[in-house]
Formats: sequence, structure tokens, C-alpha cells
Amino acid sequence: MMAPSKIERKGDYMLRILWKDGFDSTIRLKDMRFECPCAKCEADKEAKHKSPMPIIPLHKDGMNTLTKLEKVGNYAIKPVWGDGHDLGMYSWDTLRNICTKYTMSDKEIEELLRKK
Ligand SMILES: [Zn+2]
Repeated sequence: MMAPSKIERKGDYMLRILWKDGFDSTIRLKDMRFECPCAKCEADKEAKHKSPMPIIPLHKDGMNTLTKLEKVGNYAIKPVWGDGHDLGMYSWDTLRNICTKYTMSDKEIEELLRKK
């Protein structure tokens, strides 16, 4: 299983994850939150998918800010989000998939670092 060698915050909106195979990825916290693998978020996404109505994203204060990042054993991390949500356990496989899907370009990272 591919594991990260380092996880660090990058500015207020991003997380940088370095992988043991050299993959250097920076992702937006909001993308990470969107991909929360917990049963509740999965069910919410499924419900939205089935809804015939236009989708108005429900935004909760703090949902895309990171309060804490806990390591779970040797196989996962568990973020605690600014809105209190802490059910998502991101295994290395899940995290790797998210990094592959959402990794940002240097230009995007720079732009987001300048944002206040
Ligand atoms: Zn969740």
C-alpha cells in the first residue's frame, strides 16, 4: 500500500501530501472534505445525485477548514473539520485517489496562497 511520508498544511486552504514514491501533491481542503468517505457524506452525495432538483450546495460554516488532523494507526488520517464533522477516516488508498484526482498546479497553489 502506498503511504505518505509527510503531510503538512499549506496556507489556510490546502494540504500538501508527500508520498513515499515521490508523488508531491497539494490539494484543496474543500476537495478533501467533498470526498469525505464517511457513511453520512456518502449518503448525502447519493441523495443529491438522485435528486431531480437543481443542486444547491449546502454550505456550513467552517466545513472546509481544518481544526485537527489525527493519525489513525499506520493506515489512515482522520480530519476534524471546522463545523465539527469528524467521521471521515481517510485510508492511504482513499487519500491517494483524492490526491491523484485533485492535485493542484503550481500556479493554482500560488493563487490560493495569495488569497486572504
Ligand atoms: Zn463525512
